[in-house]
Amino acid sequence: MLPEPGSQGWENMVDFMRADLDSDMAYTKIEITARKILKEEGRDFNEEFKKWRIEKNKPVYDMKVKCSWCGLDMGIKPCDKGQQDKISHSICKSCKIEIEKEIT
Ligand SMILES: [Zn+2]
Repeated sequence: MLPEPGSQGWENMVDFMRADLDSDMAYTKIEITARKILKEEGRDFNEEFKKWRIEKNKPVYDMKVKCSWCGLDMGIKPCDKGQQDKISHSICKSCKIEIEKEIT
């Protein structure tokens, strides 16, 4: 879910994306790598993040994740305050397989 264009959240997101692009997508690569490493160890990135927030006494907010294609409920993910009632869109495994079939 994207912040409202023109809002502070939007500006922060754009700044983050600029910094990410300037650094050759380093932030994105770090997150993808961290998720992969934790998954290989049988751990969950979202759970680790939640634990960290609790340890640091940061409030934990969750938002629902749904598949954009079929509407499948894909659970929850941590989010910032103000986003907790919103829905984050993703793609489920079976829709991903279907879409990859169409592309190739
Ligand atoms: Zn789906």
